[in-house]
Amino acid sequence: MARRHPSPWPLETEILVKGKQKSAADALPATYCYYEAPRKRVVGNPADDIPAFLRRELSLGALANMLNHLWFAGAKRPATPLHFHVAMGREITVADRMDLHLLWANEGRLFVKPVPRFLLDPVFCQRSLQCPGGCACRDPPGDACLVIPRKVALGFLYTYACLISSESDFHIANEKHLLPRKEDDSPIEWADWKTLARALLRTHERDPAAVHPRFLHAELRLSRINTIHRFTQLPPFEPYLRGRHNYGSLFRDNLTWMAAATVFVALVLTAMQVGLATERLQGDAAFQQASYGFTVFAILGPMCAFVLVVLGALVNLLKDLLSLLWEQRNRMAPYPHHI
Ligand SMILES: [Zn+2]
Repeated sequence: MARRHPSPWPLETEILVKGKQKSAADALPATYCYYEAPRKRVVGNPADDIPAFLRRELSLGALANMLNHLWFAGAKRPATPLHFHVAMGREITVADRMDLHLLWANEGRLFVKPVPRFLLDPVFCQRSLQCPGGCACRDPPGDACLVIPRKVALGFLYTYACLISSESDFHIANEKHLLPRKEDDSPIEWADWKTLARALLRTHERDPAAVHPRFLHAELRLSRINTIHRFTQLPPFEPYLRGRHNYGSLFRDNLTWMAAATVFVALVLTAMQVGLATERLQGDAAFQQASYGFTVFAILGPMCAFVLVVLGALVNLLKDLLSLLWEQRNRMAPYPHHI
């Protein structure tokens, strides 16, 4: 099905560079990382192939395959202003990945992707985030089509119009280096930001479909994204983002919930013991049966859970060893950018 061809880049507000002629490469980062194959990270020069860079930089990764399930991880609503996140005790953590933008972890971290300089350059966006002539913007989009990166870019900027609403938010954003600085290393002016934020709101109101549907949900709970990923994506039971990076923390996390479950089981067993001491329940066959079943569960449950945690750690260890061996073997062939 052919889509309506997108209109020109809707933002014209220049807030970083005014009246200067610059080359397209000036707004781009120094280098960028991407995965050429699973576990094969490559560092590239964004100026070598700007459309390829934009497609990777503005990619939502596996999150794009989970759009139908995002309701489970966060409600559809505009992003909460930054000062309120801080007031709720969340720690703003800079994560330069589009798929991690506005994901929050249970321990209080909120991942925020800083605004890339090139997205505040309307001339660059007008020129580079436009599909090549003749593109029909079909669904699914072709290799050269830039309709999805463009929607992601507008959605991402729209979240910033919501995140930075007052001057307090603006100060927090500058303090955390979420906004690019001008040529002379001075911060963007508040008045300029207001103009841009209002232009973004107008764009969103005029054409809500111009924004990628991921950004209609704003903040997403990382633990639930991990759950969705475990049950809907391949390989199965893999979390979206691993919160732990060593076996000590894996055991610590699992022992925490096992200790809580053991306390609960002990409470139920104590209550059952008291129940069995009463005359009324001593002759109750159903209660006797339930007590028998729960006692067997209380003996076997913790042992099985512990064995499963040890097996999980062994499987992870085996996978890590295999990937290290695979990398070691591939390193025989020289590849200068492989890290
Ligand atoms: Zn297109």
